[in-house]
Amino acid sequence: MTTERRQVGAPLSFTEKFRFPIWKIDRVEIISLYAVRKNSTNNIMDCIEVFRQAEKEIAESGKLSLTARRKIWQTMGEIEPRDRDSLKPRSLTEPLKKRAYLALACAKKVMPMWCSVDPDDKSPQNLIKKSLAYLDGKIKVKELRAERKQSTIDAFMNAVDSRGSVGSAAVAAWNAMVVTLEDESYLEPWDSDLTDEDIDAYERDAAKEACVAWSNAYTDGDNGKYVIREMRFWAWYLEEAAKIAGLENYRFPPRYIKAFKEKQNPPKPVPEEVTLESLCEFLGVGEYVYNIKGESEISYYNKKTDNYDKTEYFDIYQITARLPQEYGICPVCKKPIDNIECFFADRGLDWDEFAVPKKYPQIDITRLCLQFRCPNHPKEWIYNIPNGYRNYKDGVKRYIKGEGRLEKLLEELERRTVTKYCKVWADEIIINGKNCRSVEEIENKKEELGLVDTGWIDKANGIYRLDLRQFLSNFFVFRFPFSKFVQYTKNMNDDTGYRAVLKEDEGIVEFEVRDFRFKCFMENGQPIYMQIEQRKKL
Ligand SMILES: [Zn+2]
Repeated sequence: MTTERRQVGAPLSFTEKFRFPIWKIDRVEIISLYAVRKNSTNNIMDCIEVFRQAEKEIAESGKLSLTARRKIWQTMGEIEPRDRDSLKPRSLTEPLKKRAYLALACAKKVMPMWCSVDPDDKSPQNLIKKSLAYLDGKIKVKELRAERKQSTIDAFMNAVDSRGSVGSAAVAAWNAMVVTLEDESYLEPWDSDLTDEDIDAYERDAAKEACVAWSNAYTDGDNGKYVIREMRFWAWYLEEAAKIAGLENYRFPPRYIKAFKEKQNPPKPVPEEVTLESLCEFLGVGEYVYNIKGESEISYYNKKTDNYDKTEYFDIYQITARLPQEYGICPVCKKPIDNIECFFADRGLDWDEFAVPKKYPQIDITRLCLQFRCPNHPKEWIYNIPNGYRNYKDGVKRYIKGEGRLEKLLEELERRTVTKYCKVWADEIIINGKNCRSVEEIENKKEELGLVDTGWIDKANGIYRLDLRQFLSNFFVFRFPFSKFVQYTKNMNDDTGYRAVLKEDEGIVEFEVRDFRFKCFMENGQPIYMQIEQRKKL
């Protein structure tokens, strides 16, 4: 049996603790919008109304329009009048200061994204620092104006072109510095009716620019994740703005985020029939392929003994599913692409998420995926993975809800568990659950594994024979059913560590992995037996 181990609960070291990004912490408090407003110069009820409208807009659309942002800025006071062509910096009025602090907070929020791609270039951070110093009266306006160099913004714009949305983090810092000197330009009387539709990507304000950088981070191009992050950004923005506007303790209600999430992924109806096919389909992991059974253990950290000395053991059903779509869409030319770059597996559900109660065996789901390459746009990453955020644990919980459903699912898992199988990896061959790292090991375990028609062909040259018929169709290469492995390898561009050569007229498929070389003899499209040759270990 293959065994998986996990360790949980050790105290975090200082660096580990602070590696955990602060922006991942969810706010839980719901505090009324009708909070105490300090230092009020405007009508408090008008101000509250603006924030209430903005909250509604975010709750419904997940976005905050320029029009709504402008109204929020207006709650902080008037913009200092100035001629249209004037280049004179604006005075450090209280309203300007508030709007500058807000713009700088946005830029600061996305600095971790900038650092993740360019930790050495500190010019955006420098702009933020200098702007704050100026607002606090520590440096003169001349010194801040000296930072407003064309070469700096050109470099940031180049970063947007070459690195995409993280470049927006740097542009946000630039824009926030401009607000510090000039105030928000969309408050100028001649631009005061512009909306999001009127401005293009080069004319965004600091908040919008920061929003783009923040929302794209950690989404891997997944639009479902993007829209949720975008909403979280605006929720944060509203709280930040409220604080600066003097609405103390305002919190964006988390229930709106939850409701918005559900709207993005409307819950699918749970299929009535409990089968492994309907489970995989329901979870969105593709088609059920097969499942095996293994063992797992989890050790918990004990503070007193400074050891992992409490251990729980579980049986686990390990399901493999595959995405049926054998092409991806190129994001540039929008054409379907079936030219395979590589195939891989990703984890849908981990057994230690405990999707079913702990007293039962746990379930673990791996999904086989394909990556493609467009011949005309070879730099694009193209997958067949569907868009949209999915919570597999919740999915399983919904699936098993109801009288007898969990029992029926476990029954199905047990009934369909494959016990006779052969699985090829780069450095081992797993036969009926036993790992064999060499051909000798197969020979030694032959009887225990109940293998028939299996043994040396040419011991001197290290060539071994394994009858594949005894595994029925349960012959897998890197988790993929053999026929899929052959099909995909035929469509592959290059060698990524293994190669399959098909000698179709002779009915032979040859392929090699890191430690072994295989020769499969086919009959009616099925592999009948194979010769295994141990390669020299690299
Ligand atoms: Zn293309």
